[in-house]
Amino acid sequence: MTFPLTETLLHRLGWDDDWEAAFEPYRADELVPARVAVQHRGAFDLLGEEGELRAPAAPRLARGGDLPAVGDWVAVDRTRGVVEAVLPRRTALSRKEVWHAVREQVLAANVDVAFLVQALPHDFNARRLERYLAMAWESGAQPVVVLTKTDLVEDVEPWLAEVETTTLGAAPVVALSAITGEHLDDVRPFFDDNKTAVLLGSSGVGKSTLVNVLVGEDLLATREVREGDHRGRHTTVHRELILLPGGGIVLDTPGMRELQLWDADLEQTFGDIEEIAARCRFNDCAHGREPGCGVRAALADGTLSHDRWTSYVKLQRELEARRNVLLRKERVREYKIHSRAMRKKSR
Ligand code: GDP
Ligand code: ZN
Repeated sequence: MTFPLTETLLHRLGWDDDWEAAFEPYRADELVPARVAVQHRGAFDLLGEEGELRAPAAPRLARGGDLPAVGDWVAVDRTRGVVEAVLPRRTALSRKEVWHAVREQVLAANVDVAFLVQALPHDFNARRLERYLAMAWESGAQPVVVLTKTDLVEDVEPWLAEVETTTLGAAPVVALSAITGEHLDDVRPFFDDNKTAVLLGSSGVGKSTLVNVLVGEDLLATREVREGDHRGRHTTVHRELILLPGGGIVLDTPGMRELQLWDADLEQTFGDIEEIAARCRFNDCAHGREPGCGVRAALADGTLSHDRWTSYVKLQRELEARRNVLLRKERVREYKIHSRAMRKKSR
C-alpha cells in the first residue's frame, strides 16, 4: 500500500487503518487528525499531517471532562485552530487525581508498550515490579520488563529467574546496558509498526539514558530549558512525544515522573512493618513514647532492623512531602479555574 506523502508523517506518529476508520466521521466535517505531543495549561501542541500546531480544546470538551492527554489522537478544525474531538482511547495510563479522589487523570493515552525499568543490581525489587505490572495491565498496554545496567553484574541469569517468578511469563523481559550497548537492540522490536511506549521506573534506573541512546542524541538533558517558557518555543527537543529515528514513539510526561513517588506503595514494599505497626495499642501511634508500641518493641527485640525502619520512615516523609506539593498545585489550579468561571459569570 502506498500513502500520499503528507500521510506518511501520520503513520510515523502511530496512525493506522483502525485510527483512519475511527476518524471517518470527522473527515466529512473537514477536520484533520493530529496527535497530542505536549499538554499546556490552556492549549495542546499537536503533530499532524502538516507538522506542528498549537490549539486549545473546544470548551465543550473541557466542560465534559473530556480533555485530551498526551498521546491522544484528536480531530482539529484547522481554520479555527480548535481541537473538536478526542478519538476513543485504546489504552490509558492514569492515576487518581489528588484533590478529587474519584476523578482520573490520564497521564498518557494510546500507549502500546509499558517498559517497566529496574536497574541491576540495587534497584531490583520484585514487589515494586508487581506494582508496575499491575499498573501496566490496568492501562491496557503490554508490559515489558527492562533490567538495565547489566554491565554492573557478573551474571544476569539469577535476576532473570527472579523476574520470571514475578511475571509468570506474561511479560517479555529484556536485560541490557545502555552504557556498553549490550542487548540494546532487544528493545527495538517492541517499537515495530511505530508503536508507542512509556518507560516507568524509579528515578536513576537509566530511563533517560535509554531514551537518549535510542534517539541517538542527548535529548532529555536539554528538556529543562522549557521551564518558565510560557510562549513555548517549538523545538523538537522539548516534546513529551518523542519520535525515534528507527520508528516508534516514546511518551514522557512530567506526570509520569511524579507517578513514581506518588504511587510508591509502602504497604507492599514494607508489608512487615505495616504488620508490626498494626500491633501498636493505639491506631494513631506515632511510634514515639506511646505505651504498647509494637514498632519500638520490634526494634528492641531485633525483629525489625533499625536500617529498615529508618528507610521506611524516610520514604514515608518523602512521599508525604510529595503529596502535599501535588495537593497544593491542584488547589491552585482549582482556584484559578473557579475564579475564571466567576469572572465570566459577572461579565
Ligand atoms: P532516570 O532517572 O531513570 O532517567 O536515570 P538516568 O538515565 O538519568 O540514569 C541515572 C544514572 O545511571 C546515570 O548516571 C547514568 O549514566 C547511569 N546509567 C544509565 N544506564 C546505565 C547502564 O546501562 N549502566 C551503567 N553502569 N550506568 C547506567
Ligand atoms: Zn507504635
